[in-house]
Amino acid sequence: MQRRNMRERQLLIIGGGLAGCEAAWQAACRGVAVTLCEMKPKRFSAAHCSPLLGELVCSNSFKSEALETGPGLLKEELRRLGSLIIQAADQSRVPAGSALAVDREVFARLITEALEKRPEIEITREEVTSIPEQGMVIIATGPLTSDAFAQAIMELTRRLLAFYDAISPIVAADSIDFAIAFKGSRYGKGGADYVNCPMNREEYYRFVKAVREGQKVPLHAFEGAVPFEGCLPIEDLAERGADTLAFGPMKPVGLIDPRTGEQPFAVVQLRQENREGTLYNIVGFQTKLTYTEQERIFRLIPGLERAEFVRHGSLHRNTFIDAPRLLRGTLQLKADPRIFFAGQLTGIEGYMESTAMGFLAGVNAARLLTGQEIILPPRTTAVGALVGHITNRFARDYQPMNVNFGLLPPLGGREGRMEKRQHMADRALRDLTAWKEAIA
Ligand SMILES: Cc1cc2nc3c(=O)[nH]c(=O)nc-3n(C[C@H](O)[C@H](O)[C@H](O)COP(=O)(O)OP(=O)(O)OC[C@H]3O[C@@H](n4cnc5c(N)ncnc54)[C@H](O)[C@@H]3O)c2cc1C
Repeated sequence: MQRRNMRERQLLIIGGGLAGCEAAWQAACRGVAVTLCEMKPKRFSAAHCSPLLGELVCSNSFKSEALETGPGLLKEELRRLGSLIIQAADQSRVPAGSALAVDREVFARLITEALEKRPEIEITREEVTSIPEQGMVIIATGPLTSDAFAQAIMELTRRLLAFYDAISPIVAADSIDFAIAFKGSRYGKGGADYVNCPMNREEYYRFVKAVREGQKVPLHAFEGAVPFEGCLPIEDLAERGADTLAFGPMKPVGLIDPRTGEQPFAVVQLRQENREGTLYNIVGFQTKLTYTEQERIFRLIPGLERAEFVRHGSLHRNTFIDAPRLLRGTLQLKADPRIFFAGQLTGIEGYMESTAMGFLAGVNAARLLTGQEIILPPRTTAVGALVGHITNRFARDYQPMNVNFGLLPPLGGREGRMEKRQHMADRALRDLTAWKEAIA
C-alpha cells in the first residue's frame, strides 16, 4: 500500500547538477518517489567531466560567507532550510578566507552518495531528448543542456529560449555619485529614465585606452564567436577605432550636462533595472574584460568611481528561458503547470542561486503531489528575491542575475549602507523562519 502511494507521488527530475540534486533531495524528504535522470557518464557537455552528480564545472568557491553580502545571505538561508548542497559544501570545505570553497571531488561524492542512499530516489543515466508528455517533471539541465533537449525546450516554450549571455554590468543605485551623474533621456524624450555619466575629451580617450589594454577572458572552445553585431563587446568596438564608442553606446547627442549647460564629449548611460530603482545597468557595455578589470576600468567613468558591481558584464554560452513571460513564481510553466524549471535554466546565475531554484522547485512539486498548497518565499529573503528576478516583467531584456542586495526590497531611513544591509539580513532570516515552518 505504501509502495502504491509512493508511485502515485512520482516526480521525474531531468539533470543531476546542483539544482536537480537539491530538488530530488527536497522531494524525497517530503515522501515523494523521484526518478533523477542524468546523461553523464554516457554523455558529457563540453564543460562537465566527472561521472558524479553535483559537479562544479569551474570555480570551487561559493563566494563570501558574510551575511551582508548576497551570496552570504543566500547560503545562510539554504543552510537553515536544510539544503543538501550546502550541507555537502560545509562538509567538504577547504580554507578560503571569508569565502566558502570546497574540495570539488569530495563535494560531488557526498551529494552522489546521499542521493544513492535514499530509498525514494532512483537514478537513471540517460540523455532525455523530449519533454515527457505526462506526470510531474522538473527540468534542470543547466546552462549546457544537450542540443536535442534544448530543441525540445525551444518547441515547448515557443522559442523563448536564449543560448548566449551578452550582458552588461549592473551597479547598485546608491553607489552612483549623483553630484556628477544626472538623470534624463536623449532630447528630453522619456523623462528622467536614464542616469547619464558625462565625459570630457580627455576622460573619454583615457577610458578607450584602458578598455583596449584591459585584460580579457578568452572564449571557451565550445563558445565559438558570438554572432550578433548588436551585442558586440565594448572592447571590440574600441578596437574598430578610438571614436567608435562615442558614435555607438557612448554617443552624447541630445543630452545636456546640467553642471556645464553643454553637451558632453561622450556619455555612459545607465538604465533602471528593477521596479524599486535600486539597480542600474550600464547600457551597451557587454564585455569580456575580466571582473577585476571591469571594476578598475569602469570606475574611471565619472560618477561611477565608487560603483558597487552587483553583476559583471559577460559574454558566454548559456541556456535560459524567458522566465518572466513563461514561469509562475512557483517555477511552474504557465502554459503547463505540471512542468517546473529549476537552476540556471530559469535565468539566474551561479552555483548557489541554481541550488536555491532547485530547492524551490523540489519543495513545490512535492507539495503539489502530496495535495498541499504551494507557498512562495517572502520577497524579503534572498531566495524570494531571486524569484522576484525571475518574475520581473519590468526587465525589457531578460538576462541572468546573481543574488545581490539590490534585489531585496529596500529599507528607508538615513543609516549607512552597511547598517541597512545588516538590518535587511536580519529581516530576511526572521521572515525565512516563518516560511520554513509553513513548508515543513
Ligand atoms: C563553463 C561554465 C563555467 C561556470 N563557472 C561558474 C562559477 O565559477 N561559479 C558559479 O557560481 N557558476 C558558474 N557557472 C554557472 C554554473 O553552471 C551554474 O551556476 C550551475 O552549475 C548551474 O546549475 P544547474 O543545476 O542549473 O546546471 P548544471 O550544474 O550544469 O547541471 C545540469 C546537469 O544536467 C545534465 N544534462 C544536460 N542535458 C541533459 C539531458 N538532455 N538529459 C539528462 N541530463 C542532462 C548535465 O550533464 C548536468 O549534470 C558556470 C557555467 C559554465 C557553463
